Amino acid sequence: SKLSGRNTYSFFTKEMNAIMLRRFEIEEQLNLALQRNEFEVFYQPKFDVQNRNVIGAEALIRWRNPALGNVPPDEFIPIAEHTGLIVPIGKYVIEQALEFLREWACIHNKNYTIAVNLSPRQFRDKELINFILSALRKEEVAPENLEFEITEGVLMVGNAYVDEALEELHQLGVKLSMDDFGTGYSSLSYLRRYSFDILKIDRSFIDGITVNKEDFDLVKATIAMAHSLDLQVVAEGVETHEQLMLLDKLGCDLVQGYYFSKPIPAQALIDYRFPAS
Ligand code: C2E
Ligand code: CA
Ligand code: CA
Ligand code: CA
Repeated sequence: SKLSGRNTYSFFTKEMNAIMLRRFEIEEQLNLALQRNEFEVFYQPKFDVQNRNVIGAEALIRWRNPALGNVPPDEFIPIAEHTGLIVPIGKYVIEQALEFLREWACIHNKNYTIAVNLSPRQFRDKELINFILSALRKEEVAPENLEFEITEGVLMVGNAYVDEALEELHQLGVKLSMDDFGTGYSSLSYLRRYSFDILKIDRSFIDGITVNKEDFDLVKATIAMAHSLDLQVVAEGVETHEQLMLLDKLGCDLVQGYYFSKPIPAQALIDYRFPAS
């Protein structure tokens, strides 16, 4: 009827309005978030499967805004990417992560590495490499102890800056890791084309590894393939002991996930005493 048609229409407009309003509010609040110091970088430790030692951590940004509360990175990073704000935000994460790494490695007297996520828009910043270099120098961190996690989204852009920047980072000795491996369309051809050091198997495959033969076979084949290309393999999203046992059996090098630790604040990671380290 006319009435239900109108209701359907207004339902969609309301939904759309809500989504657009939320987006608009996030965009508006994001503009001031850096100066207002609303970001904090959390760290999730990575472990060596063989000896269960902590080998480093991944930096993951958190945003707490007085009006919006905690906004998850999956929600605000794409918006920051769209507006370009990801460039200064991304620089902030790199600075924080390197400052943290220096302190953490020094206090524990360990050769830890820190991994930072880089998104496509950051590669259009021509100052990116110089910024990374001066940040490394300022914190006296060796390039080998810094890793960038890159998804296919970065490589799909297919512009010359990306290729050039990745090659420069590789030449500097900075580690490159292919994130969310297996979720895109062209992961294999990108592995051939770029100088990756590490492959991160996406959480969605690890989720099914103990219950689903296909996932198990895919993870097994991915690890074998990665090793034949001289890549280290990280499994992300490890949540159970059974998953860890299987990954150990398959020769996976590194693991990270809630089974060991959620992402936690810098000081918590510095203070934390992990079982086997
Ligand atoms: P990602 O790079 O794939 O990061 C892994 C996500 O999985 C993180 O979510 C992490 O908290 C979560 N995770 C880790 N272990 C487990 C587990 O065992 N179970 C489950 N269910 N989840 C686990 P988070 O921190 O919400 O980040 C989401 C995404 O936002 C990241 O995905 C990354 O794409 C992006 N992101 C986060 N921080 C940054 C940043 O500083 N810069 C950029 N460019 N992107 C970031
Ligand atoms: Ca990542
Ligand atoms: Ca990932
Ligand atoms: Ca992801």
